[in-house]
Amino acid sequence: MEVLSAPDEVRSRIRSIQRSGASIGVVPTMGALHAGHVSLIHAAKRDCDFVVTTVFVNPTQFGPGEDFQKYPRTLDADLEHCRNAGADLVMTPAADQMYSDGAQSIVRVTELTKILEGALRPGHFDGVTTVVAKLFNITLPDRAYFGQKDYQQQLVIRRMVADLNWSVEIVTCPIIREPDGLAMSSRNRYLSAEERQQALALSRSLFTAKDLAAAGASPDECRLAIQAELSEQAGVSLQYAVVADESTLQPAGPASSSAVALVAAKVGTTRLIDNQRLQFRSHAGFR
Ligand code: AMP
Repeated sequence: MEVLSAPDEVRSRIRSIQRSGASIGVVPTMGALHAGHVSLIHAAKRDCDFVVTTVFVNPTQFGPGEDFQKYPRTLDADLEHCRNAGADLVMTPAADQMYSDGAQSIVRVTELTKILEGALRPGHFDGVTTVVAKLFNITLPDRAYFGQKDYQQQLVIRRMVADLNWSVEIVTCPIIREPDGLAMSSRNRYLSAEERQQALALSRSLFTAKDLAAAGASPDECRLAIQAELSEQAGVSLQYAVVADESTLQPAGPASSSAVALVAAKVGTTRLIDNQRLQFRSHAGFR
């Protein structure tokens, strides 16, 4: 496995690989890798001849007062995960290798970024789309792998790729969870033992909603059930709970046959997100 930090070096290396006809897969990450990230590398390995993982804590996607400074940086362990998962190249740029002093350009998806995460984290998605655009231009992928864990993020990236005629296929991989249901996240390591227990309310509320939907509840009833479960949980401060259309993220209508439930909450000072697809049994037969 090769490890390179300079973007130009990475691009020339990948160009030379491409000349042999190999397909390229990229897995963008901010490091602090866990089994969720590893599952993306495995998926890329299955589909692509040459897999690039990028490890970069991107400063421009953190807002003032967010956790950029304390974000976990575990490069040695990350490289070990990448090696074990079969990555061929890991790119580990420094911030000044990604952003030159005079940089003035951003890539913005204008509408899908105004709601949910975008509303609570102003500027966050501009940071994400700009860095992902740069990573695509450096790593020249045929396919790029993202987690459903960041549901809105993968939709925003799909929108960017479609709008800008990018010839990269976006692959969204399922959420990897701890055995007790907690969605894996680099930020879980901030949680105390007590908060770790309290955080289980997020996935539990989503699983409740999934069962309710399957049993004939409406999108609104599912949303209310999630809100009730999270409001009752000590230590959890709910930021949003929605049941939304899977493509637009607008509230799901009563006749929807499927939707995605998305939640964001603070557990102590740690901000967590999770989501779950819902399939609705026809409501008519239920009542
Ligand atoms: P991050 O390092 O948090 O920016 O995440 C890098 C990629 O890993 C993103 O596409 C995330 O959606 C994905 N990811 C994070 N957590 C999980 C998880 N639990 N399961 C699957 N993918 C994940």
